[in-house]
Amino acid sequence: MGKLTGFKEFQRQAAPYRDGSSRILDFGEIYTSHDEQRLRTQGARCMDCGVPFCQSLDGCPIHNLIPEWNDLVYRGQWREALDRLQQTNNFPEFTGRVCPAPCEGACVLGITDPAVTIKNIEMAIIDRGFDEHWVVPHIPKQRSGLHITVIGSGPAGLAAAAQLNSAGHHVTVYERADRVGGLLMYGIPNMKLDKGIVERRVNLLREEGIEFVVNAKIGDGGDASVDIRRLLEHSDALLLATGATTPRDLPIPGRNLDGIHFAMEFLSANTKSLLDSNLQDGRFLSAKDKDVIVIGGGDTGTDCLGTSLRHQCRSLVNFEIMPQPPATRTADNPWPTWPRIFRVDYGHEEAAKRFGRDPREYCISGKEFIGKQGRLTGICTVAIEWEGGRLQELPGTEKVWPADLILLCMGFLGPEHAVSDALGLAYDQRSNYQADYGVYQTNIPKVFAAGDCRRGQSLVVNAINEGREAAREIDRFLMGATLLP
Ligand SMILES: Cc1cc2nc3c(=O)[nH]c(=O)nc-3n(C[C@H](O)[C@H](O)[C@H](O)COP(=O)(O)OP(=O)(O)OC[C@H]3O[C@@H](n4cnc5c(N)ncnc54)[C@H](O)[C@@H]3O)c2cc1C
Ligand code: SF4
Repeated sequence: MGKLTGFKEFQRQAAPYRDGSSRILDFGEIYTSHDEQRLRTQGARCMDCGVPFCQSLDGCPIHNLIPEWNDLVYRGQWREALDRLQQTNNFPEFTGRVCPAPCEGACVLGITDPAVTIKNIEMAIIDRGFDEHWVVPHIPKQRSGLHITVIGSGPAGLAAAAQLNSAGHHVTVYERADRVGGLLMYGIPNMKLDKGIVERRVNLLREEGIEFVVNAKIGDGGDASVDIRRLLEHSDALLLATGATTPRDLPIPGRNLDGIHFAMEFLSANTKSLLDSNLQDGRFLSAKDKDVIVIGGGDTGTDCLGTSLRHQCRSLVNFEIMPQPPATRTADNPWPTWPRIFRVDYGHEEAAKRFGRDPREYCISGKEFIGKQGRLTGICTVAIEWEGGRLQELPGTEKVWPADLILLCMGFLGPEHAVSDALGLAYDQRSNYQADYGVYQTNIPKVFAAGDCRRGQSLVVNAINEGREAAREIDRFLMGATLLP
């Protein structure tokens, strides 16, 4: 383990973000550079638990070898730490930046003290690996001659492609967007995950032998550029990793007013314009000088707050339909489950710095969008309370909020169905592609599904886990046995 008495001697010290007032002036990453001494001290806090809950199912879905690399970082053995990290995680540079770190919620030290800063340590190990040129392409020595098609280039598709390529299969990834990465590219904004970091990994995968085809919308005639049935015919196996891209709407009166948009319209166009022209082409929805209301929380809501601030919005409010979470765990949310507690994410902190208060309004529900001559001018809301899991409006609490941009961040309903309908795929009760966890085989021969399209909207780390496991099952299906983890 790190230092025998480290957990008693040292306090948790997480790596700080850049200053909240100045970082909203650009789209550069919010992180500060790694402080080696601090990281080694934090590694020393790890107790090398007999049962390391950090890497259990409640903790890390890909079972990162956390206590091992904590110890190696404490000892300054960064190269060896990287070797351990790469055994379980294809893309630690993504999770080290964007994962909410369920490992820290499950850390045993967290029962009595603040958890080990596992996520900071993960990010520092992989960043150092790239800086030192230790991360290199691994080109398979032998090829199987079998061809696998992956549809969708998010973390699930990329992880599956990486694993299947390492087993010697020919892998082609089709992506309808003009850049590879799924939500890593066009969902999560640049300040949380720099797109150069996504492209660096995609280039490595290319060097390893994976083929990427962009601007390729797979479907069933219509506006599709490639026909799904033809692709299936020419593939030995096909993996659907198309994400959960159907947004939940807010169908209240006035919904058709100009100025109401789904979060993804706002976030994707912003990143594309940023990458294409540093926001000079004007091909994005600007929040500049606007009263912005973000409806819904989670990562998507936070990213809309952060992006609006960087556009220099005039005002910013965030509606949450749920009550404010408690400051500490409640009795029905014990360790090692994910702590459902009040958190201040980067966008909340920035909004508080800019406008002097946290932007969140809790227990509030939209009643009607208000407008003039077809253009949004505000929204009427009502306060609500929750009774036995049911929402009740509180009479007399109607309020009108001025708004000329409203962003809907109320989650996603599941995958689109064009490709799956064309294949005759079965769905589960929530309209996701039906395929059992751990098996990933759909009802159609040689068609597999993984990631958000199979499990519903989730996390990058779960998508990586499903991509890796689906690759293992595809390899087993093709070869009769598999050495993939
Ligand atoms: C705004 C936002 C912020 C988020 N922030 C975080 C975060 O901070 N941390 C975290 O862990 N998770 C976050 N998530 C969730 C995370 O991004 C997803 O869970 C994860 O990306 C899912 O991976 P996936 O590979 O299953 O699908 P996706 O990443 O959605 O990728 C699916 C890809 O398939 C492509 N595709 C779909 N249909 C077709 C077709 N017919 N033909 C060709 N291509 C197709 C899509 O264009 C897309 O590129 C966030 C999600 C959003 C929306
Ligand atoms: S649970 Fe926490 S203290 Fe225990 S091994 Fe994992 S990181 Fe270290």
